[in-house]
Amino acid sequence: MAAIKIGNRDVLVVVDIQNDFCPGGSLSVPRGHEVVPVINRLAKHFPHVVLTQDWHPPDHLSFASAHPGKKPYEIISVDYGRQILWPDHCVQATRGAEFHKDLHVPHAALVLRKGIHRAIDSYSTFYENDRKTPTGLVGYLRERGFARVFLAGLAFDFCVRYSAEDAKREGFEVVVIEDACRGIDVDGSMDAARKSLAELGVARTGSEAFA
Ligand SMILES: [Zn+2]
Repeated sequence: MAAIKIGNRDVLVVVDIQNDFCPGGSLSVPRGHEVVPVINRLAKHFPHVVLTQDWHPPDHLSFASAHPGKKPYEIISVDYGRQILWPDHCVQATRGAEFHKDLHVPHAALVLRKGIHRAIDSYSTFYENDRKTPTGLVGYLRERGFARVFLAGLAFDFCVRYSAEDAKREGFEVVVIEDACRGIDVDGSMDAARKSLAELGVARTGSEAFA
């Protein structure tokens, strides 16, 4: 694979490397912790890095516990469409919402928190799931002059996928670093993610391209 040269218009967005998404967490992504050393190495190649955090109030609408009689992974209908119900996860200022203890990206310039509105879930780091409420990240990236967005993190088939799609629609060049991601795979979501990214022309690469 040809080496990728990183410049000043490139940014690495590291998605949701939080305890609840790692083994032992309440919504653990299988082998999610394996991406931590990969991302630590990768981030050294990028002068500009953004970290994101899923960051929900305790009674968030995406939690099955907020809907009496419902169980995690059931699907309900909400104002903005279908919503999968999740176990309680990444509750604001809890240990589950903290970054994995081994994540080490001291030069990250921004920590962007999403999913903060009680009545809207947020997979994408750019827009919440109503597809209208911005997180502010598009504005940040534009103002900083970035043109190419590299994505890594958890989970490939949800937050990474929807972030890649939104970044592409916003006119950024987008590259997903596949071995720096792990997926949940609910109901065919891995295949759906790969298909959608391919259709949108989102590039995929491996972390060895940055060595
Ligand atoms: Zn969440």
